[in-house]
Amino acid sequence: MTTPVYQNFINGHFLKNQSGETFAVKNPATDDVIYYVEVADAFIQNAAIQSAKQGFAAWSTMSPIERSRILLKAVALLRERNDLLAKIEVLDTGKPWQEAECVDVQTGADVIEYFAGLAPAQVGQQQMVGEDFYYTRKEPLGICAGIGAWNYPLQIACWKSGPALAAGNAFIFKPSEETPLGAIKLAEIFIEAGVPAGVFNVVQGAAEVGQWLTQSADIEKVSFTGEVGTGKKVVASAAGSLKDVTMELGGKSPLLVFDDADISQAVSAAMLGNFYTQGEICTNCTRIYVHKNVYQQFIDELKTRTEENIIAGDPLDPNVNFGALISKKHQQLVMSYIDKGISEGATLLTGGKTLSPASAPNGYFVAPTVFIDCTDDMTIVKEEIFGPVMSVLTFDDEDDVIRRANDTHLGLAAGVFTKDIKRAHRVIHQLQAGICWINSYGNSPAEMPVGGYKQSGIGRENGIETLDHYTQTKSIYVGMTNIESPF
Ligand code: NDP
Repeated sequence: MTTPVYQNFINGHFLKNQSGETFAVKNPATDDVIYYVEVADAFIQNAAIQSAKQGFAAWSTMSPIERSRILLKAVALLRERNDLLAKIEVLDTGKPWQEAECVDVQTGADVIEYFAGLAPAQVGQQQMVGEDFYYTRKEPLGICAGIGAWNYPLQIACWKSGPALAAGNAFIFKPSEETPLGAIKLAEIFIEAGVPAGVFNVVQGAAEVGQWLTQSADIEKVSFTGEVGTGKKVVASAAGSLKDVTMELGGKSPLLVFDDADISQAVSAAMLGNFYTQGEICTNCTRIYVHKNVYQQFIDELKTRTEENIIAGDPLDPNVNFGALISKKHQQLVMSYIDKGISEGATLLTGGKTLSPASAPNGYFVAPTVFIDCTDDMTIVKEEIFGPVMSVLTFDDEDDVIRRANDTHLGLAAGVFTKDIKRAHRVIHQLQAGICWINSYGNSPAEMPVGGYKQSGIGRENGIETLDHYTQTKSIYVGMTNIESPF
């Protein structure tokens, strides 16, 4: 059987590049090349801009309710094709089918549905100023670009294109070169639903293609999901043409477990916030601060449940709940952090090694890993690892743990477990993070704005306010009286 080759998706169809350059995509659970993708060369880049201009002309002049109706058809198609799309995500990312089947496509569809519903509700203002008045219109920005990470490829494409398209913009999306197929499938679905050609284009490639998007003077905004370091480059590059930016970046988020907390629930949150999607989630609570009074109980239950309940293996097996990391390189990076944890004096409670499960012996697995005896200055406690590595620390003073939790340049997420309602709110209000949970962790519904404080991001995704980030306000002054002129 020949290995498929996917082209860039431009102006409603696949378009062959001129350079002939391709890259290979591997299944992280098998190490096999599963398909090739053509790189977006200068010919494709130019075609993407031209088609987005045409797409914008058609889409931005449709009424919001028409756009909404079309986007809702796309939502229905996404849900109808859930299993097919979820399988693509499993093969591209290495995450378990168990997750992709109920999360990735569904949460992507939810966000498009949410913004499709809001599109016709966007209104301007009108105000009298004497006998004259002014009114405002919410107008789309033009051509917007999205650059995605590899952990939730289809979901990220939906979260970025949903509000952009609902507001009437055209969009050019570049998925990570590790996971390029989901966005192509979304592009096909948009066309099938009736989105005009050119409104959603997919360009493929690595950093150079991302750089082109951030530099292009034809693009008004870039919404980026990825590492803090890459985000800084994107912002610097986007400044050249004064583009609007949304940055969804990395985190090193704290979870505070007080001594009155439901410990089993707190362990569930800690495990979900470190081992779901094999630890490759930006909001993960990789610094767990446990009150000294409940520390032993917490780590005993954590160790037992980690060693007994986690099943690593072929991610397509519905019983498997722990998948492979995205690449061999990433597996090595995560292992290097584990080595640093050991050499800097942390104690391994469990894990700390690569795995080679019988059903996926060549996959890039790292065992779910918990470090105890951690201190705030250790590398594993300070830096984002983006793998299944949890650091457990202890505390006995509320003010002190808040200070320690905030002692980082990152501020994506935070969580608190306590039964004391006053403490829960008092503490969470002092934590410097954009996405916070009380007695919960990780849920991110379409209705809730998400984004980071400090170096974890700029702007928000989801929630009503995001639509404003994809529009610009035009003010129109209407003269009802004669102009008084000194000339
Ligand atoms: P990267 O920053 O490496 O890459 C993100 C995207 O940017 C990829 O499409 C990448 O292309 C592209 N890219 C790389 N260099 C440039 C450049 N100079 N200019 C423009 N684009 C560029 O992140 P990862 O893909 O490794 O994703 C993991 C990171 O994403 C973690 O830090 C994680 O915390 C963060 N993340 C944040 C989320 C949030 O909502 N806050 C959600 C999910 C992840 P390519 O991959 O093809 O090289």
